[in-house]
Amino acid sequence: MEIFFTKELLEYYEPGHPESPERVQAIIDFLEKKGRSNFLSFGSAQESILLEVHSRMHIDAVKKNNFFDPDTPNIPDIFKFASLSAGGALAAAQLAIDKEDAFALIRPPGHHAGKDFLGGFCYFNNIAIAVQHCLRSVKKIAILDLDGHHGNGTESIFKDSKNVLFISIHQAHAYPWTGVMSFSNCYNFPVKKGTGFPDYRIFLHEALGLINRFGPDIVGISLGFDTHRNDPLLDLNFVDSDYYHMAKMIGRSICVPTFFVLEGGYDIKSIGNSFFCFLSGWEKVR
Ligand SMILES: [Zn+2]
Repeated sequence: MEIFFTKELLEYYEPGHPESPERVQAIIDFLEKKGRSNFLSFGSAQESILLEVHSRMHIDAVKKNNFFDPDTPNIPDIFKFASLSAGGALAAAQLAIDKEDAFALIRPPGHHAGKDFLGGFCYFNNIAIAVQHCLRSVKKIAILDLDGHHGNGTESIFKDSKNVLFISIHQAHAYPWTGVMSFSNCYNFPVKKGTGFPDYRIFLHEALGLINRFGPDIVGISLGFDTHRNDPLLDLNFVDSDYYHMAKMIGRSICVPTFFVLEGGYDIKSIGNSFFCFLSGWEKVR
């Protein structure tokens, strides 16, 4: 699996905010310790590409720092960082178009951002922008959102789309309080507080079955590590090694090129090893 990363994305932060540069730095440090330091770089997403998913008004609001959201900090130059983050997702998607698997280690995350709104630490919807790009080259794409939170932004962008399947497994009764029911092309699996991988895998198995029946050309996965038991924002119950088994299960079931974008995961101590476990499981079966 190729990994996309650029240090520039570590250059912004909001003091005390859980979406910190230390999260991605912890993953990079862990990978380097394990001898994986071959990262591919990328450039920013062009505005014309952002416009395929977001409204002009939304893009301008981010660009001019003309917005307020209690969770999503209004940081100088955030437009530059959010566009660059989307660029990472695009680069990973392009590799999938070229029939290789890729992971975009990016921040800010994206799955809570919709056409016209930001929220939940997300400004532009990275995976949606990448999927829209893929739809120029292939017919059908499945999005699997395995962050611990519901991917409400992604769902709102692709609902009723015939060429996109959206599936999210997430903690019930938690931010953003959506994803309670399935409808149209959107399948939601809310799981109880305290759910660990032994129960979670039943829903994952069902999700993978839905993907295979849909028959996508490419799969895009929003991956967050806030399903970990030590995550400060949610109450799910994964341990580091669960990500190894999860990746093997997904990698074996999906037979088409797959790209990943990083969403959440806020426990600095576990995120490096959890990511490494996921990567090892994936590479074991692909
Ligand atoms: Zn999350």
